[in-house]
Amino acid sequence: MATHLSTEKKPAEGRKHQNMQNDTKASQGQWGRAWEVDWFSLASILFLLMFAPLIVYYFIIVCAQYQCSLTDPLLDLLTGNKHLSDIWNSTPTLTYRAAVIYSLWVTFQVVLYLFIPDFCHKFLPGYVGGVQEGAVTPAGVVNKYEINGLQAWIITHVLWFANGFCFHFFSPTIIFDNWIPLLWCANILGYAVSTFAMIKGYFFPTNAKDCKFTGNFFYDYMMGIEFNPRIGRWFDFKLFFNGRPGIVAWTLINLSFAAKQQELYGQVTNSMILVNVLQGIYVLDFFWNEAWYLKTIDICHDHFGWYLGWGDCVWLPYLYTLQGLYLVYHPVQLCTAHAVGVLMLGLLGYYIFRMTNHQKDLFRRTSGNCRIWGKKPQYIECSYTSVDGTKYHSKLMTSGFWGWARHFNYTGDLMGSLAYCLACGFEHLLPYFYIVYMTILLTHRCLRDEHRCSSKYGKDWKRYTAAVPYRLLPGIF
Ligand code: NDP
Repeated sequence: MATHLSTEKKPAEGRKHQNMQNDTKASQGQWGRAWEVDWFSLASILFLLMFAPLIVYYFIIVCAQYQCSLTDPLLDLLTGNKHLSDIWNSTPTLTYRAAVIYSLWVTFQVVLYLFIPDFCHKFLPGYVGGVQEGAVTPAGVVNKYEINGLQAWIITHVLWFANGFCFHFFSPTIIFDNWIPLLWCANILGYAVSTFAMIKGYFFPTNAKDCKFTGNFFYDYMMGIEFNPRIGRWFDFKLFFNGRPGIVAWTLINLSFAAKQQELYGQVTNSMILVNVLQGIYVLDFFWNEAWYLKTIDICHDHFGWYLGWGDCVWLPYLYTLQGLYLVYHPVQLCTAHAVGVLMLGLLGYYIFRMTNHQKDLFRRTSGNCRIWGKKPQYIECSYTSVDGTKYHSKLMTSGFWGWARHFNYTGDLMGSLAYCLACGFEHLLPYFYIVYMTILLTHRCLRDEHRCSSKYGKDWKRYTAAVPYRLLPGIF
């Protein structure tokens, strides 16, 4: 399958097209993340830098020490029953064993990423792997990527099952058994890579024209300076840290939690199987579509800072897997109707998520020469200008799910996220953190993306929002 650039460069005569003209000054170089920091953004960033690590710590510790009750530790502290130091002193520390496991894990993923070129695309029909191109950066660069995430995921999981069923080098509960010591390792890597990325942005950027400096240290540290930091030709920070080690680990972590349930209770509950299956589909989908992922906001628009570096190392593996962790402490066996309801909601959400993303991908790849729901798609022609002054043309589709709402893919994602939470029953709030977080993340992402698109496309974006007035839920928002 051909690569699918999200924007197309047209000949010079096309550039003069009057009705596609935007105000060049307004849009030139303004897309990508912000150049200037308002007070609200700064306050949010400071809040996240200070509290996001504490939030992760809190969730993990309430599971380990309070049977997943979110309120009990607060009550203990407020009533003076316990002091912060009591909780901290009972927290497992960094261990040599965890450091070895984590180092081997990350090294193994680096080896799979850097040294084993993709072979999956040679025998899997429809899979796009191997060397692929990313989207045009604001400086007008098109990066090449080695897409081999599916292969890395398959090799890792084959080895995991080979160990579990044949070799028995380590217990499949290894991740659960070292969960908190591994948290410290993940934090060390997350902070190290974010700090390194910042220093690199100042002193030896991969592409100086794609760097952004706001002059605000905290904003730059959080949101990143470099757009696509790389070491050498192929080690791309964003692709590596976004996908591996965190997302490859996601399914392994869930398997380790299932193994722990088996060890503790002699069975794996249907809720644990549902969480493993639904999140497994999501992860596998991510790697199957890794080439498509090059065209998503993470790779196309976000710079690489703490938000991605620490977020991918710590936030994602620790908080996206809370349902499985919860089910180790509370093994919920759902009645058939509940389990089937969760499965249906999860699959419907996944279908909407995938089809919406697929429709945009197909539309952009064929430049609108395709069929969406059996008809030729409708769209709005638009244009934008990169930093070097080159004018590009693009199209915004108004057919299919993209005619229902401007981000119906997020709506499908949210339905799937709700299904993971509902699989855990209604006894505790903790597993519902994920749907609350995803709602905030995707709503914020939606607003952020729209702000960026508005700067990029100017009045063409206004025409698009008039044609598709709702963001996530038709008729509501
Ligand atoms: P989208 O895939 O929705 O991409 C948004 C971009 O698509 C816009 O910036 C614009 O880019 C282009 N676009 C917008 N409207 C149209 C249109 N009508 N027709 C054609 N192109 C359009 O967003 P994301 O990259 O955020 O998300 C990708 C997926 O990843 C989503 O399904 C989301 O749910 C999921 N996701 C999951 C997360 C998780 O943590 N689980 C986190 C983030 C995302 P351009 O500049 O090219 O015009």
